[in-house]
Amino acid sequence: MKLISTSIGYPYIGKNREWKRYLEGYWNNRISEDEFRQEMKRMRLGNLKHQQALGLDFVTVVGDFTFYDRMLDLATMFGMVPNRYEYAGGSVNLSTYFAMARGAKGVVACEMTKWFNTNYHYIVPEYEGESLQLTNNYLLDYFTEAKEELGLITKPTIIGPFTFVKLTKGYDSKTIAEFLLKLMPLYIKTFRQLCDAGAEWIQVEEPALVLSLTNDEVQLVKEIYRQFSEQLPSARIMLQTYFEGLFAYEELSNLPVAGLGLDFVHGEEENMASLQMHGFPADKVLGIGIINGRDIWRANLAEKTSKVEAIMAICSANEVWIQSSCSLQHVPVTKQSENKLESTLKEALSFADEKIIELSQLTSYISDKHWSGNKCVSESMTAIEALALDKARKNKQVEDLISQLGPAHFKRPMIYSNRRQLQQKVLQLPDYPTTTIGSFPQSAEVKKIRKAWRNNEITTPEYKQFLRNETARWIEIQEDIGLDVLVHGEFERTDMVEFFGEKLEGFAFTDNGWVVSYGSRCVKPPIIYGDVEWTVEMTVEEVVEAQKLTNKHVKGMLTGPVTILNWSFTRDDIAREQVAKQIALALRQEVKALEEAGISIIQVDEPALREGLPLRKEKWDSYLTWAVDTFKLTTSVVKNQTQIHTHMCYCEFNDFIEPIRALDADVLSIETSRSHGELIQSLKHNRYDLGIGLGVYDIHSPRVPSVEEITSILHDSKAVIAKDQFWVNPDCGLKTRKEEETVASLQNMVQAAKRLRENK
Ligand code: GLN
Ligand code: ZN
Repeated sequence: MKLISTSIGYPYIGKNREWKRYLEGYWNNRISEDEFRQEMKRMRLGNLKHQQALGLDFVTVVGDFTFYDRMLDLATMFGMVPNRYEYAGGSVNLSTYFAMARGAKGVVACEMTKWFNTNYHYIVPEYEGESLQLTNNYLLDYFTEAKEELGLITKPTIIGPFTFVKLTKGYDSKTIAEFLLKLMPLYIKTFRQLCDAGAEWIQVEEPALVLSLTNDEVQLVKEIYRQFSEQLPSARIMLQTYFEGLFAYEELSNLPVAGLGLDFVHGEEENMASLQMHGFPADKVLGIGIINGRDIWRANLAEKTSKVEAIMAICSANEVWIQSSCSLQHVPVTKQSENKLESTLKEALSFADEKIIELSQLTSYISDKHWSGNKCVSESMTAIEALALDKARKNKQVEDLISQLGPAHFKRPMIYSNRRQLQQKVLQLPDYPTTTIGSFPQSAEVKKIRKAWRNNEITTPEYKQFLRNETARWIEIQEDIGLDVLVHGEFERTDMVEFFGEKLEGFAFTDNGWVVSYGSRCVKPPIIYGDVEWTVEMTVEEVVEAQKLTNKHVKGMLTGPVTILNWSFTRDDIAREQVAKQIALALRQEVKALEEAGISIIQVDEPALREGLPLRKEKWDSYLTWAVDTFKLTTSVVKNQTQIHTHMCYCEFNDFIEPIRALDADVLSIETSRSHGELIQSLKHNRYDLGIGLGVYDIHSPRVPSVEEITSILHDSKAVIAKDQFWVNPDCGLKTRKEEETVASLQNMVQAAKRLRENK
């Protein structure tokens, strides 16, 4: 059997985020379009050369590179430019392309949403019934430039028609056929041009084939691929799936394509079972996604070898490709630039470059066990074992605390309706109490002073004094505005996960471990590598200081366990659920500390609760059960009269109301202003009986909402929310807003709440 190492996608941001700098440089007119295009080309070719130098057999793909987002690349390639943008047909210029991505004067951007269960967000294409055309073929351009300038025959990659259609909006069951009829010839033309230019393989990514599909959808997929094989009999398509096992394997593994790529990391169980049951078609190449493309851990090459051999033993493919489980865009570029990490940890890490090296080592080792480089197999085991034995993973205190947990730790002793009365007695809040979500503007000054402190230009006491002053100033502002429950403003926090990670045991931080979240925005997720333990108070000092300045209640403010987990890279030697439990226990101690310091309202934010949902609906329940439990473990430590709040950003309340209710949080604030009507509708059908604040204005916009506008929203909500559960708050935290806007908007919000109280 022939074995080849190949990659299915590489990060485009560059070792030092050069890509981001060029992109933002172009947006800010620091570089011209020509320079921008040249630099991007240099990066594209550089990435290919680099991967070849790392040892890949089949130097990988072109088309994994983008100026903003690959779904947007395809939409514009097909001329799918919504009417609200300037577009006269033909090739889409950069200003229209970026207007769709980011909005422009007078036109809003296209919607952005999460790419399957990752933290990457893509641009949602909109179909408006227009006629489609092939406005360019950037894949052909990329293929040709690699061939001409580097002499490489690459494998162009494209998001397949089924996934593209599934993620596009603007059609319904009546118009989908018409949409596909317009789209298919364009795909076919693109592929034909690639084949004519010498492409030997085309990688067609269809991650949507791992979702639960209806029978109609399966038939549609069959029809799409039948057409490809009929129209392009000589094109070799590698149908690439990832993130889960292939759905309807028996039918879909027999599509008329030359190769099929399966994820043997995240879809291991299901794909193995399918292979065992139905075998693998002998006429196809099997892509074995064996190196995890979603985590940052070094692979145990001995273990991976036996897995690949087990797969090869059951499939009769005459060629297999050893590849990552999905594109490596979800991991940072290289660990080489990390200088501050402890060596045991660093040795056990593997970012994109290291993963490519692993692919090539694994391939050499499986092909020839006597290969001279075979010591890399034992080295990988040594590194993993060393981390396993590290004291950070053997924390006796954490182990003891976990072993003492019983059902009572996961439940508040009194039911909500009784707690509410007690809380009201203590808190003495007016009807329709007003509050905010936690953060206040992180002004240029706040950022400047933090930077100065990080660079040791000012002392810690000086920095703390500045933060204290800022909080004091905002306590006064909040009192003047007339808010009922105040916050300290979160000025000390850069990021809601990093802030806690830095204070808890078990977390590590990279200098350069960036991954794209959307567009040019990159995030640097913390690494949870050891047992998570609470050793110091994290938030008490700031909140207590703030509380001293006012007679109103100041809310304590924490990031929840599920959000901390979902926004970090997590250790893989224990289940995510276990890690979540450790984080919850640590936060529970912080909640307790806040309460003991006299804080009577504590908010535990869980904006990422929904993000952790598995792709397959049948797996939702098990995730939600432990996710809800971890939240309850965090919060149920308080007295009945202490009020627990939680906050979620937009979360499609409709199919989520049960788990949200199960959190048993006394008050929930939720982002709604972009979907207010929908939410009111869903609350009509499913009564929600705990405290709830439907965000009354959109904090993503600088616009100041009028009193009338907010009043009318509040009146609508009155139909579905009882007076004794009704809270009034903005949509989300205010850290990205300007002070003026914030004050004006909150004044109007408080005014509107007053009118409601006076029943005007
Ligand atoms: N408390 C956080 C803030 O106000 C919540 C942020 C969020 O929901 N993402 O910024
Ligand atoms: Zn939010």
